[in-house]
Amino acid sequence: MSTAGMNSDVLVIGGGLIGSSIAMGLSRRDAGSVTVVDLDLGGEWSSSELNAGGVRATWSQRVNLLASKSSIEYFGTVADSIGYRDCGYLWLHRPESFSSALKAREMHVKEGWAVDVLDVKQIRDRCPFIDKTDDLAGGLFGVKDGLVNPNRLKEHYRELAKEAGVVFMDGVFVTEGNRSSDWKIRAFRFKDTLKSEDKRRILEQNPTSRDSFDGSLGEWIEFSAGQVVNAAGAWAPKLASILGYECPSVPVRRQISLFHARDLDLTPYGMIIDPSGVYFHPESIYGLSGFATPGESAGFNFRYDADSFFEEHIWPALYERSTGFESLRHVSGWAGLYENSPDHHAIVGPVNGLPGVFEAHSFSGHGAMQSYAVGIAIAEQMTKGRYETLDFSDLSGGRFKSGRTIASETWVI
Ligand SMILES: Cc1cc2nc3c(=O)[nH]c(=O)nc-3n(C[C@H](O)[C@H](O)[C@H](O)COP(=O)(O)OP(=O)(O)OC[C@H]3O[C@@H](n4cnc5c(N)ncnc54)[C@H](O)[C@@H]3O)c2cc1C
Repeated sequence: MSTAGMNSDVLVIGGGLIGSSIAMGLSRRDAGSVTVVDLDLGGEWSSSELNAGGVRATWSQRVNLLASKSSIEYFGTVADSIGYRDCGYLWLHRPESFSSALKAREMHVKEGWAVDVLDVKQIRDRCPFIDKTDDLAGGLFGVKDGLVNPNRLKEHYRELAKEAGVVFMDGVFVTEGNRSSDWKIRAFRFKDTLKSEDKRRILEQNPTSRDSFDGSLGEWIEFSAGQVVNAAGAWAPKLASILGYECPSVPVRRQISLFHARDLDLTPYGMIIDPSGVYFHPESIYGLSGFATPGESAGFNFRYDADSFFEEHIWPALYERSTGFESLRHVSGWAGLYENSPDHHAIVGPVNGLPGVFEAHSFSGHGAMQSYAVGIAIAEQMTKGRYETLDFSDLSGGRFKSGRTIASETWVI
């Protein structure tokens, strides 16, 4: 079996929103040659293609506020090309959660992120279709929060990276990594486009042996790289073990339903988060709604529970919020993976004890909205050895072993 060799100063493994943004960040600096590899650059099973498109800086923890704020401010400068709309996030609160939300708002406003406080009448004035409000104490409206088209955002990062010479390689699955003077990363490169189920199976099984792939399907290749980035999303723990370290995150299924509301036009509104945990926003002519089902176990589960998910979790909550939601048609839906870390913060930065290895993953459901800031930050670390724009030191993966923990993020939906 022959192995073709390739050299690149930097190898980014995973070409989702995060890997693509890092490539863009590196392309603006003197990082040398940069290659991004992915089993599927189209990202059929990637979180970057299966998310809800929400972007907000309304968070309980400052590091998330700042990472999102800086990213959203960038989105505003390229709004047309990435489909960013500052249509706002409306958080509805019952009495038991409203005072802590108001406390977090003090931090939002202090950091320059406009968040309006609404009483129940103001909620009804802003969104007249929200006509069942007896349980509400009030709401917060993140004025510049909004929605983005994640696929266009990913392509935007890639275009900028490619213009500066970054190479993106599709159909490449990384199976082994060893360090000698450089990192030697072995991968199988498929010669034809894989079928959807084959991609899912490979990502789920994560084969690491040389017998795993039929040689007639492609070839083994070996990269030599001075620096390697783990940007493998929900598969980051698997890649971490290939590279020789532990990552405490887990993949967890999240489902999204599309519905048709015959009597209601949602297009004038942005993202709305109900106190039940159900969120919704307009998605072309439909409504898009998601919910974290309680007790969801960790695993690479992409099954969409269809009517049972919609009828047990989505519809009852929407029904209780608006007469306009009393008659709804479930259209379709899908499931994707959150990449949950123990404290629901991302893991970002150089990997302790492994020179030349960097990581950015485990965004716990908020990677799209922080992707720009993280791409810039990782590029700074890799080229300068320090953070210059935003300090992500608190998000170092070493925090779980060193005990230098930070307060968990609680505004995860
Ligand atoms: C239902 C749902 C709703 C969400 N809603 C939002 C939202 O509203 N706003 C928001 O900001 N975020 C949201 N998220 C989270 C967001 O989508 C993710 O945080 C983000 O997309 C992570 O990007 P990534 O590049 O790290 O991972 P991914 O997009 O998953 O990319 C990882 C890539 O690594 C590749 N890969 C893995 N292992 C290997 C290997 N060994 N060799 C080669 N390639 C490999 C995979 O093929 C994949 O393409 C949501 C997620 C889900 C599932």
